[in-house]
Amino acid sequence: MKTHKTTLLIIGGGPGGYVAAIRAAQLGIQTTLVDGAELGGTCLNIGCIPSKALIHAADEFAKAQEYAGASALGIRVQSPQIDIGTTVKWKDGIVAKLTGGVGALLKKHQVTVIKGWASIVDGKTVAVTSAADTLHISCAHLLLAPGSLPVELPFMPFGGRVISSTEALSPASLPEKLVVVGAGYIGLELGTAYRKLGVAVSVVEAVDRILPAYDIELTRPVAAALKRLGVALHLGCSVQGLNADGTAVRIRNSDGTDRELAADQVLVAVGRRPRSSGWALESLQLDMDGRCVRIDDQCRTSMSGVWAIGDLTGEPMLAHRAMAQGEMVAEIISGKRRHFQPQAMPAVCFTDPEVVVVGKTPADAQSAGLDVVSASFPFAANGRAMTIESADGFVRVVARRDTHQILGWQAVGRGVSELSAAFGQSIEMGAVLEDIAATIHAHPTLGEAVQEAALRALGHALHI
Ligand code: FAD
Ligand code: NAD
Repeated sequence: MKTHKTTLLIIGGGPGGYVAAIRAAQLGIQTTLVDGAELGGTCLNIGCIPSKALIHAADEFAKAQEYAGASALGIRVQSPQIDIGTTVKWKDGIVAKLTGGVGALLKKHQVTVIKGWASIVDGKTVAVTSAADTLHISCAHLLLAPGSLPVELPFMPFGGRVISSTEALSPASLPEKLVVVGAGYIGLELGTAYRKLGVAVSVVEAVDRILPAYDIELTRPVAAALKRLGVALHLGCSVQGLNADGTAVRIRNSDGTDRELAADQVLVAVGRRPRSSGWALESLQLDMDGRCVRIDDQCRTSMSGVWAIGDLTGEPMLAHRAMAQGEMVAEIISGKRRHFQPQAMPAVCFTDPEVVVVGKTPADAQSAGLDVVSASFPFAANGRAMTIESADGFVRVVARRDTHQILGWQAVGRGVSELSAAFGQSIEMGAVLEDIAATIHAHPTLGEAVQEAALRALGHALHI
């Protein structure tokens, strides 16, 4: 049996694990990273990046199709076609560039990368099995970053026509009819993309609205856009399973009646679960929150020297959270004093229009007992939004009534994901409404709606 000794051993080379490895190595910590699959984890291989690539391709195709009709812009094209095989190849090229880049960064920082599946032996030892042999690695610090897996419906397991986001991101050909189960992030991001690619899409959602994690005002423009696109929404419905010959999904409506939705493929997107079993993690008997490993505000688990980050530690399961935790853990191990206490965790849903939430919504503020002012500025009154044919949506700010300190921003509209940086910075820097109102925002940009929302909260918006 081969052995290897290291100071920091990281299980998982996703955004949490690889960022921790780079930062640890920068700080002079001897670091080993183990992954059984490709570097970059869910995010780069089967998550954030490939989904945004497919969404972009679908947007471009939808635009071309619009130009083939009666486009108000005067652009005319003839019968656009999409070769989905080439689209997937292009997407795979982006993934390969990014995962190759992660490998190069780890090499540059002299991180030892071992390919294989890790299994816990004890809090300081891990066995890594590869095709060739088994390696025992001992370490001073063990960082767990194995990510998450898609939740399966027990009565409709993955396989055949029933697919997860992983298969939906690499279609060999496009189905005629797609039924999506779950109107959350994945269901609506990919459901919208497939619809734009010409697929007939129906979405079945258990609760009575789309994107239940966001407030209704924010999701209204998304619901309206889905309707315009021709996505059929079945809200407040439960999925019963496939019909006898597997060609349709049986659903139960809120009134108790049943119906069938014909489907060539069924994308199940009802959430993800932490990867907390199947690799002897249980043997450590760590304190858990359900299936998630419980951590404190330094990402320490209940066992000394064992750390956990990313999706394994539960919601919000977002790549930027995993990266920020990974960076922090490396710094703590190197002796720096750090705590994970962000003022705000940005969340973006890449639907059309996009939705951004950073910090507190008016409802969050109310339930926290805070006295706040809140104001919105609609993109209908923003010149830039009109020039990009996207006057739907708005920017909303939430601030303390007494000090005007900004507590939250929300926005819905085309391209608003890029406003998340300004939103996050103003909150982390403790900005007040007057700071944003007095900042000159370039014209014509969507950012002017940010300034106008702050002005409106102060009672003197200029363009409404
Ligand atoms: P992961 O990225 O899952 O990486 C874990 C790694 O650990 C994997 O490479 C795996 O092979 C490895 N591993 C697991 N077990 C073992 C073991 N026993 N031995 C060795 N290796 C192991 N988040 C966003 O912020 N923005 C988005 O736009 C976004 N879009 C998404 C779209 C989709 C379709 C999906 C599925 C997810 C999306 N996410 C998005 C979520 C994001 O991908 C995850 O939050 C993020 O990847 C979690 O990072 P992680 O490091 O915790 O784990
Ligand atoms: P989700 O939690 O976003 O949405 C799941 C949806 O499925 C919910 O609306 C829920 O009510 C519904 N649902 C649950 N059980 C159901 C059932 N039996 N029948 C019908 N509907 C049901 O989960 P997801 O879309 O699978 O995404 C998983 C996670 O991946 C997200 O929570 C997020 O952390 C991450 N993600 C993030 C992004 C992003 O940041 N843009 C994109 C994709 C995924």
